Amino acid sequence: MAVDRSETRWNGWGWTEQLDELSHNDRVWEWIARELNMGALLATPAVPLEEVELPAPRLAPDTLNALAEVVGEAWVKVSRQERASHARGKSYHDLLYLRAGNLADTTPDAVVYPGNPLETLELIQRCAERNIAVVPTGGGSSVVGGVNASPGESHDGVIVLNTTRMSRVLTIDEEALTAVVEAGVYGPDLEEQLAEKGFTLGHYPQSFQFSTLGGWIAARGAGQQSNKYGKAESWLVCAKLATPKGFWTTECFPASAAGPDLNDLVLGSEGTIGVITEATVKIQRIPEAKDYRGYLFGDFASGVAAAREIIQARLPVAMVRLSDENETHFFRAFSDAQKPNSFLRRIKKTLESWYLKSKGVSQRPCLMIVGIEGRKANVVGVSKVAGAIAKKHKALAIGPSAGKRWFEGRFHGPYARDPMLDHGLGADTLETSTRWSNILHLQEAMIPAIEGAIREGLPNQGARGIVMGHISHTYTDGASLYYTFVFPRDLEHDVRQWRAIKKAATESIVEHGGTISHHHGVGTDHADWMVEEKGPIGLGILKAVKDELDEAGIMNPGKLLP
Ligand SMILES: Cc1cc2nc3c(=O)[nH]c(=O)nc-3n(C[C@H](O)[C@H](O)[C@H](O)COP(=O)(O)OP(=O)(O)OC[C@H]3O[C@@H](n4cnc5c(N)ncnc54)[C@H](O)[C@@H]3O)c2cc1C
Repeated sequence: MAVDRSETRWNGWGWTEQLDELSHNDRVWEWIARELNMGALLATPAVPLEEVELPAPRLAPDTLNALAEVVGEAWVKVSRQERASHARGKSYHDLLYLRAGNLADTTPDAVVYPGNPLETLELIQRCAERNIAVVPTGGGSSVVGGVNASPGESHDGVIVLNTTRMSRVLTIDEEALTAVVEAGVYGPDLEEQLAEKGFTLGHYPQSFQFSTLGGWIAARGAGQQSNKYGKAESWLVCAKLATPKGFWTTECFPASAAGPDLNDLVLGSEGTIGVITEATVKIQRIPEAKDYRGYLFGDFASGVAAAREIIQARLPVAMVRLSDENETHFFRAFSDAQKPNSFLRRIKKTLESWYLKSKGVSQRPCLMIVGIEGRKANVVGVSKVAGAIAKKHKALAIGPSAGKRWFEGRFHGPYARDPMLDHGLGADTLETSTRWSNILHLQEAMIPAIEGAIREGLPNQGARGIVMGHISHTYTDGASLYYTFVFPRDLEHDVRQWRAIKKAATESIVEHGGTISHHHGVGTDHADWMVEEKGPIGLGILKAVKDELDEAGIMNPGKLLP
């Protein structure tokens, strides 16, 4: 089913009606305040939508009529709710603006919903004729400023082109195991349609419920089980785009030597060259069995060595996810803090700690979850081999309950961010990838870089941030590193504080051999570092492609390219 945006939080994450157990749980907030060395936390509620002042729309009635002629009047939306909820994406940085009601620079003049590729093309062409910027948007879950509805300096207005009416699986080729799918389909809707025929795409990002196929391709995303199902570039076969220059369909062969593969220009294009309206994707049969189980390692380095060995042995795992000491500790303690500290629980904790000690595992271990999906017989066999490798690296097998807990909670984490923001706290994430030979070096640089930037930006000298990392996507030559950090907000200058942390973290990534993004993309937030990533010639090539397809520069201005 399509997501009705009026039922989701316009300035936060998820369903408005989602049960919020965290906000009123004083134990959690007392615990966090202690961990961050802060005094009592302040109440910092968001400005309600009714109080937000939106800029006056710039589009004249005849322009709105011209757009309505294409899609029908009902699909050109100008309500406060539509304009505000399409102003920005869902990064921490975005939420600072949304929650403050500061939408002056990023409010679209209208949100337009085409129902098919032809309408999409016509909309783009009418916008090009009228010098109106077009921001293609699927779920709007970008965390890099990719859907900020800013018109750029030279445009006469900006629309958000919302793709989510285009949401059907059009055909399935059961012999080739491919499906042709409309790009605006949300994750759950796509999987439901494929499951009717026994198939899955298997792309489950943490944002699965609120993101779309087109967004996954355009941002070059990764689902949590990317080892089995692949990152977007592994499962995309070809795509159809509506561009200002006309329709463009990329080549659809299983392999070809006819020059460079142009699908790579679509993957990661972030709406800057056109709108992906349809895509052919590789699908798989729904797996017969799933096995997710946990291992505790004495330190991060041993876990990294085990993860590398599992992947380089080419074991067909779906996921290897390794948390560092801080992350393993934080999430355990965060979950504990939500429950009453009863006598029984204290006994249980003491026994657990004693058990770990007796097994020679440190008191700050690193949790690895290994996920395997496939035929029953294979799953059992692969799990045994993965377990043997973990054991070789001195891990303690803690069984399927840790895996089950992770699996069941795999989309819940983001719901904690809004209550944190309501309590004067910041919570942000960033990610990168590098070669195995550089993983520990990068990890050792990143934690102090982020911690240091948080400390420097804090008015209260005693307070601190908590920075934690994990590996969640692995390849034979390297892996991603993902960081989550929770910190006291500088309430007077929270955007400035965020910028300083982002700058320090990204500079550290670039200096220590990581990519500026493994799966979130570039948007506005990473664009300044694109020249370091691609080099001036590479950047020139990307600019030339944009100029070729979008001569007037109306497609998602200010994103991807500096
Ligand atoms: C809580 C949370 C968890 C997340 N977890 C993950 C994760 O596990 N893995 C991951 O990869 N990402 C993750 N993300 C980031 C985000 O969800 C992904 O980038 C996702 O792919 C975006 O999909 P979307 O439909 O929301 O795209 P949008 O946010 O709407 O758009 C993203 C970019 O793609 C462009 N775009 C969207 N649709 C089209 C189209 N049809 N044609 C052309 N351009 C288009 C937009 O212009 C924009 O530049 C997470 C984000 C949040 C908020």
